[in-house]
Amino acid sequence: MNINNPTADQDTHFFGDVCKNFDHAAQFTHHDAGLLDQIKSCNSVYRFRFPIRKGNGFEVIDAWRVEHSHHQSPTKGGIRYSEMVNEDEVMALAALMTYKCAIVNVPFGGAKGGIKINPKNYTVGELENITRRYTVELIKKNFIGPSIDVPAPDYGSGEREMGWIADTYATMNPGQLDALGAVTGKPISLHGIAGRREATGRGVAIAVRECVSVAEDMQKIGLTTGLSGKKVIVQGLGNVGYYSAKFLSEFGAVIVGLCEFEGAIYNADGLDVEAVFQHRKSTGSILGYAGAKQEFKNTMDGLEQPCDILVPAALENQITAENIANIKAKIIAEGANGPTSPEAEEAFYKAGGMIIPDMYANAGGVTVSYFEWLKNLSHVAFGRINRRFEENSNLNLVNMVEGITGVPLTPIQRATIVKGASELELVNSGLEDTMIRSYHEIREIYKSNPAIGTLRNAAMVGAINKIAVSYQNLGVWP
Ligand code: NAD
Repeated sequence: MNINNPTADQDTHFFGDVCKNFDHAAQFTHHDAGLLDQIKSCNSVYRFRFPIRKGNGFEVIDAWRVEHSHHQSPTKGGIRYSEMVNEDEVMALAALMTYKCAIVNVPFGGAKGGIKINPKNYTVGELENITRRYTVELIKKNFIGPSIDVPAPDYGSGEREMGWIADTYATMNPGQLDALGAVTGKPISLHGIAGRREATGRGVAIAVRECVSVAEDMQKIGLTTGLSGKKVIVQGLGNVGYYSAKFLSEFGAVIVGLCEFEGAIYNADGLDVEAVFQHRKSTGSILGYAGAKQEFKNTMDGLEQPCDILVPAALENQITAENIANIKAKIIAEGANGPTSPEAEEAFYKAGGMIIPDMYANAGGVTVSYFEWLKNLSHVAFGRINRRFEENSNLNLVNMVEGITGVPLTPIQRATIVKGASELELVNSGLEDTMIRSYHEIREIYKSNPAIGTLRNAAMVGAINKIAVSYQNLGVWP
């Protein structure tokens, strides 16, 4: 593959799409062509193979780690465990990480990893061996470390795998004080952070809530403001999809459709997300859930059912020129990376829809990963030092107000006002603040020039400008 000119190759697709978005947005910036090329290119692409023992023999595993941009250090991005993963995909996802971090003002460059396996085909012991060996290969080439490159979970991986990576890295770097900052998305017991597991989905739900709160934009696409009663279909009931559905319904939306790879279910009156999740856990399938009014063997049919908001939260390339005309939603909120093709996006906007782009919509994960990294570097949980002090100050204030007014508070009122913030509350408020501010930053750019046309272009324009400033300030060495 020609990594400097991906669109020239036949086998590229996803990275080419990301570069197309970049080129389009770059027209609305005023940077030197060379600088734009530096921002767009993947700086380091590491492809490697390693053996594992399988049965009585060996199996060779293909793997990648791509560091897209070093304008900030460390670089950051998840590791995908999927038999479909390939170099083009890892490059595209690494590039998206760069833009995503810039959009939500997280001071990292973008990176991504891939291990070409279907985790379902391996025992837990084999998965642990693969994960540890992958980590050692990264260590050998200096592709991991708290100040170098910090992996996180992605499709097919989670806290368990991040725990193995942390342990392998710490074992291979004895005495390194910040070793646990070499990976995020770890279990809480291994210095992970409260709220990371649900952060991406919570961020998606906040992004949607913010989008539908803007009366001017809702009027344009023919929706009322507010999430209350809005009908939502979610594709993917994994980490991002499950929590997106859960928080959207907590915010007042009605989840009418859920799609998994084995099929889709629909009920215009609403589905109980937790009950569907438990049903799938016990039966192995989303199908057969008693509360569904319709079932579809082909998961793609599920995306085309009536709703206001569609949240693709499984994989890339789900909404394309082929099915976009059948999508009934007015808003697509991209929980997954790259679920909508550029052609589909153009057609959707033309038909009066609006897309909340992946680069922003699913940035809650990396935002809370940033908080986890900060926690690991400072070696103390958020809230631990100041919580009691805060509670004592609040208590003094309550006593004073009660003394002056002569009106005592109820025990519940007292406890609510006095209580200091827990780590989870601090993380969630930091996440909410980031998602809300970033949405309006993107929207301002979107409104500043009608030719920009889409929220994705606007988000990309903002990202390019921020990254360009970093590169300009760094200068070029030597
Ligand atoms: P996951 O492995 O936890 O869940 C993915 C789910 O999608 C699984 O339940 C799987 O069965 C389902 N699925 C697979 N193919 C499908 C199909 N064709 N139709 C419907 N469902 C299908 O993965 P995840 O972490 O939730 O990641 C999902 C997407 O979100 C990916 O694009 C990932 O890059 C992106 N993302 C994840 C995070 C994160 O923090 N995990 C952060 C940002 C972006």
